[in-house]
Amino acid sequence: MPQHIPVVENILSANDRLALENQAELDAAGVFAVNIMASPGAGKTSLIEHTVRGLAGKLRLGMINGDVATSLDADRAQAAGAVAIQINTGGDCHLDAVMVHSALLKLNLTEFDLLIIENVGNLICPASFKLGTHKSVLVASIPEGDDKPYKYPGMYRGVDAVVINKIDLLPYVPFRMDYFKQGIAALNPGVTQFELSCRTGEGLPAWLAWIQNQVQDYRNTRS
Ligand code: MG
Ligand code: ZN
Repeated sequence: MPQHIPVVENILSANDRLALENQAELDAAGVFAVNIMASPGAGKTSLIEHTVRGLAGKLRLGMINGDVATSLDADRAQAAGAVAIQINTGGDCHLDAVMVHSALLKLNLTEFDLLIIENVGNLICPASFKLGTHKSVLVASIPEGDDKPYKYPGMYRGVDAVVINKIDLLPYVPFRMDYFKQGIAALNPGVTQFELSCRTGEGLPAWLAWIQNQVQDYRNTRS
């Protein structure tokens, strides 16, 4: 029996406890929060830029960008008009509730309706670390290949929505959409899905409408 498993379980439960605290802080301020996960290069930051621009004047948006080293993504979110806090994980390949907690302390939460957290690009461990967000979204993309649900079931199983980005590349890349969606359906039946292209803008309105509806539903359940 490997000795390290109980230690890992303790770390995870400590993380989950702090994630609940994070959510309580968000709820006290009435802020709906989304955890966006993906592999590197799937288009998280591009989707976030479009989201910031698309929701300008409709929702007050805050951002937490997790990255291993740079602040490039927070810079892009800020340039698009969001208030953004950068977390550099110093090499860690995922965000955890402690990192998010310290970032929340730097934001005046009452200024926001929606908080988007961009996780570190990685399809494995981000799925295991709750952050305190209300919903989680996976951004997949056509060039990654159609086998990803089969290879990373933990990630596909736990999310509330899957965004399939870069559909403009479908004519140029071997990608069986049916096979990909069968994989998703086996792991997460009925999960909300969006097919879109951050490059052409196709499919983005449905995604923006969904985010706005999520915020509205959150408000309705609280009032
Ligand atoms: Mg990014
Ligand atoms: Zn990790």
